[in-house]
Amino acid sequence: MINTFQVKNPATGKNMSTVTCNSPEEIKQCLQKGHDAFKTWKKTTAHKRSHLLLKWSNLIQKHKMDIAKIITEENGKPLAESISEVDYATSYIDWYAEEAKRIYGRVIPTHDEGKRLIVSKHPIGLVAAITPWNFPAAMMTRKAAPALATGCTFIIKPAEETPLTTIRLIELAHEAGIPADVIQFVNGEGKSVGEIFTGSDLIRKITFTGSTPVGKSLIKASADTVKSVTMELGGHAPVIITKDADIDMAVTQTIITKFRNAGQTCVCANRIIVHESIINEFSRKLVDKAKQLVVGNGLDKNTDIGPIINEVSYKKIVHHINDAIEKGATVLTGANYEVDNENKTFFIHPTVLTDVTDNMKIMYEETFGPVVPLITFKELDEAIEIANNTPYGLAAYFFTNNYKVGNYLFDNLDYGIIGWNDGAPSAAHVPFGGMKESGLGREGGIEGIEPYLETKYLSIGNL
Ligand code: NAP
Repeated sequence: MINTFQVKNPATGKNMSTVTCNSPEEIKQCLQKGHDAFKTWKKTTAHKRSHLLLKWSNLIQKHKMDIAKIITEENGKPLAESISEVDYATSYIDWYAEEAKRIYGRVIPTHDEGKRLIVSKHPIGLVAAITPWNFPAAMMTRKAAPALATGCTFIIKPAEETPLTTIRLIELAHEAGIPADVIQFVNGEGKSVGEIFTGSDLIRKITFTGSTPVGKSLIKASADTVKSVTMELGGHAPVIITKDADIDMAVTQTIITKFRNAGQTCVCANRIIVHESIINEFSRKLVDKAKQLVVGNGLDKNTDIGPIINEVSYKKIVHHINDAIEKGATVLTGANYEVDNENKTFFIHPTVLTDVTDNMKIMYEETFGPVVPLITFKELDEAIEIANNTPYGLAAYFFTNNYKVGNYLFDNLDYGIIGWNDGAPSAAHVPFGGMKESGLGREGGIEGIEPYLETKYLSIGNL
């Protein structure tokens, strides 16, 4: 196990901080503390928990600009996106602060006059979270807020690239009055910490956001202690543009869903499937807009696209672009790079590829970068087949002004999140999550609190 790691600004390569990894013994002590704290936190009234969550949210908002700056410096995304992420992160705390007061049981009509049948909901116990680097604030609060709202205690291991946002948010939780052992963080290598989490019988639930292979390994490792798992995994989002779409709106929304966070989001558009009758107009307008996007350091106020998070991710994106070109794709714009090998900074200009075919890697692997592959279709069923031809099922988008076409697409796309004329469907009060190998369970909305609850049933007889 490594002892320390450096958090680097991916736009400059500068070291922001050296973080000490927790030893296995320290992590186990934290688990014991979280487990012990559960005994009292679960008895804290829902109204008190709600009040503390709101105080936490208010404190984060008070420090919004500082936190946004930390996000941009450790993750690379433009400052405006980081500010939006802080708002998005607190929207989950606000929503679940309210939901804390609405965790209801029920009384079931009895089959026997002498009985009373009661169902009640209880927090599941100590919850362990593992989160990715691409939304260091929101992926954390989307898990911590419903966990704390129900009366669970919470421990998190953030991604090695972006632990500083998590550390700051947890400091503010403690400042708001949430007890130190109720919400904790540990740092370390994902694999080692994951093994301690999944192997511990003090933890009753693992909630993970990250790649599908790691998610699968956590599901397997959680089986021995039969832990509840929530998995928010990879995506490969299709965007279908039908012949009756509003092309200008489709272009604007595609830019939003594709280039946010330099294309490094799980719900980013990955395959743009356009009706052959409008491909020329759509691609011309898309390329015009893509060319206007400014690539640079996220702290510069003109920047639209920040750096790629690290060299491994950069190499994968370039490999996908080159593989497509070798197999016959045409570059309409982009495929140019700014690399500083000494400081390890990597920027990729927005790239649009046409003449794309389904044997190209970009069509069947998650690229996680600012690259748009364009393919055409004739019949709607062909577009649906292309869209569903993947093990992923997280987000899909389509653009049409035809009501029947829209409903047909909604019914037939195998995806957990669908945007119809909407490139940004996510919000705290709606369910977020994927089908197939994109995940298990949902976060957000009323669906997002249930995974932190156990159901107890009581039968009272002989009344
Ligand atoms: P990742 O490599 O799976 O890492 C995510 C987290 O898992 C990090 O904290 C990492 O720790 C940890 N980890 C790595 N290997 C592990 C192991 N063997 N056992 C336990 N934990 C381990 O994913 P990423 O590259 O950070 O994030 C990108 C992926 O996340 C993409 O596939 C994206 O689609 C997905 N994602 C999904 C959603 C969603 O809501 N569905 C949202 C955002 C991102 P280290 O940092 O120490 O390696």
